[in-house]
Amino acid sequence: MSDLVTCPHCSKSVSVLRPLGASVIKKLEDSGQSGLPSEVCDSCYQQLAGAFAQGAILVAEAKAREQKKLMMWKSRVSLIKKARLLMREKAFADAAVSYEKYLRVLETVYDCKANELNPEHLKSTARTQELTVIASVYWDLLRIYDTSEKYASRMEVAAKKLAEFLPITPIFPDIVKKAESFSKQAKKPQIIKFFLKKVTDKKGRCFIATSAFNSPLSPEVLWLSNWRDQYLLQTPEGQKWVNMYYLYSPKIAFILDSNVWLKPLVRKLIQAIIFILKANYRPNKTSLSSDESQNKSIDSETHLSNLKS
Ligand SMILES: [Zn+2]
Repeated sequence: MSDLVTCPHCSKSVSVLRPLGASVIKKLEDSGQSGLPSEVCDSCYQQLAGAFAQGAILVAEAKAREQKKLMMWKSRVSLIKKARLLMREKAFADAAVSYEKYLRVLETVYDCKANELNPEHLKSTARTQELTVIASVYWDLLRIYDTSEKYASRMEVAAKKLAEFLPITPIFPDIVKKAESFSKQAKKPQIIKFFLKKVTDKKGRCFIATSAFNSPLSPEVLWLSNWRDQYLLQTPEGQKWVNMYYLYSPKIAFILDSNVWLKPLVRKLIQAIIFILKANYRPNKTSLSSDESQNKSIDSETHLSNLKS
């Protein structure tokens, strides 16, 4: 008298089923399995329990990795302190080593290759205060690398990274001023000039709107940068305003990034400004539609006015 039941997992007929248990099912689901029955046959149980053990190992390994990253993240403070001390003692080569270690720590924590850390990595984890530290590290490295010809390629990388990080930090106007005077005495002034050109590029993004709307591709940011290019930059008076704006807006954007509760307010304000600008500024629609070689920004601009009017 064999009362056979069907295993809901493998469909074999067996005499008895074993309950998997809610906690085992949950752990298995956490490690990627789905659609697990509450009871299975013995052989399925063995197989799933094995997977369970493997899942537990994977979870433990991931935990150890996170723990290691956390320790590394904490170690960065002493690396910075050491580097700053060495800078004061004018031990520049040693300071550079400590700064480079600091950057490697960040790259490890954020799982990126050498020199591929970018501001978005830190923004996504709300570590925006660190952006200023990183910018100041690249600024120090830039000047250290300038002292020797053998560091030319490293100096170029530092210039590129500084241009990426600096504009979204409150030290932006200060460092730009310092870089301008440093370019006159630098051994490799062309790299400092490359940095200055990159960082003060008129085609830069609108920092405040980008921060307020949390994206450089939001319709408001696109509308404003189009308005800047098509209207503001066409007159000398407008160019003055744009220059002023690029001097102060990174600081304001930084304040916004560290006080996110202000963002809804600023969004409303920017939308009101766009509303007023639109009432006073009409893009030349006929020339846009007759232009066969429309570029992307014009495209999004016409798309936007279609949406909003
Ligand atoms: Zn089975």
